[in-house]
Amino acid sequence: MSVVWNEARKVIHILKQNNHNAYIVGGAVRDWLLQREIADVDIVTTATAEEVQSLFSKTFRMNNQHQTVIVRSNLEHFEVTTIRGQSIEDDLHLRDLTINSIAIDDQNELFDPTGGEVDLRAGRLRASNPADRMGEDPLRMLRVYRFVSELGFDIDTSLKEAILHNREAIQKVAVERVVKEWVKLIKGKQCNLALTGMVETKLYSFIPGLSLTKDSLMQLKKLPPLHEESDLICWTLFCLCSNYVDDMPLKRLALSNELLRGIRARLHFFEKRKMQSWLPLALYEATLDVALDVERLRELCGLPSYSFEELSRLWDELPIHDKSELAITGRDLLQSVKRPGPWVKEELRLAEVAVVTKELTNEKTVLLQALERRRAER
Ligand code: ATP
Ligand code: MG
Repeated sequence: MSVVWNEARKVIHILKQNNHNAYIVGGAVRDWLLQREIADVDIVTTATAEEVQSLFSKTFRMNNQHQTVIVRSNLEHFEVTTIRGQSIEDDLHLRDLTINSIAIDDQNELFDPTGGEVDLRAGRLRASNPADRMGEDPLRMLRVYRFVSELGFDIDTSLKEAILHNREAIQKVAVERVVKEWVKLIKGKQCNLALTGMVETKLYSFIPGLSLTKDSLMQLKKLPPLHEESDLICWTLFCLCSNYVDDMPLKRLALSNELLRGIRARLHFFEKRKMQSWLPLALYEATLDVALDVERLRELCGLPSYSFEELSRLWDELPIHDKSELAITGRDLLQSVKRPGPWVKEELRLAEVAVVTKELTNEKTVLLQALERRRAER
């Protein structure tokens, strides 16, 4: 059993010692039964959030989820949520799919009121009362395809009918929630199955924020599986497949600024790389990380690409790798011309480009003299 699983049992044990019931639920139990790697462990307990906080030294509350406490224990963290309803069975009945509605306690006893284990063995995605389930929270329809993609399971007929019936309701779901499921979906090993299924039920056309078209799904289907790729690579590929002309669709997705910046840089240099192979200045401006990702993107798109070694060697051959390695600074320039202004930045940039393209060597006197000459000529 994995480290995280054992650590979770310790948390449950402490709750039980204090007269509360506690169980591991949801994805962790599903993945444990399937012998898949466990992403995160969710715990439900009869204790209130305040009681949970009083029992563990390292906790914090998530302000949007009142009944959930994050408990840290030996580098692992767990989402501990107060049970909804009177019993664990009540709580399990409120979950989305039967395979996600199984709980286990610290004696390894399973609680499976909806028949999730049978569905797991049969490779079937099912919900009890699917019409109600999908209507209550339409994001669940996207989750269904996310699990098709991750697990390669079939969708039960009654669930598929419920999706056909409720599909338009997904339009009202918050984009932030859609985005989290969407990355998992495109990273799934059986992504093609999920994309085909979404075209079949037309759910894709109602998903907010992503501006999905049948054509973009077809483009995505041509890609190899992405489960080993970073989120950055996946998002960039998604943008490429979607033919986003500007980045308006991206802005609507409420991605982190860091992720957005990363995607934009990769899209920019991917385009540039279409015209020509890596020249020193482009490589310098891209940075090695971005350039390697661009080559990976090309490879995934079936385009010829540099190997890691080739690109690393080009990078190593660059005279400098960052502005901080330039032999002169703004202060050096201001020593001869004591008049601050935008010219300082301009001249530094000229020197930087000249050094990267090997027009000039990266030596202080060489650079200062060249800039002086240029000033005199103007
Ligand atoms: P992963 O392994 O990717 O974390 P997961 O099934 O654990 O998958 P989470 O989003 O972490 O997905 O949710 C944890 C559990 O909470 C689910 O297994 C399910 O029981 C329940 N759940 C999550 N989202 C919903 C939802 N929209 N409606 C009902 N139950 C949900
Ligand atoms: Mg989970």
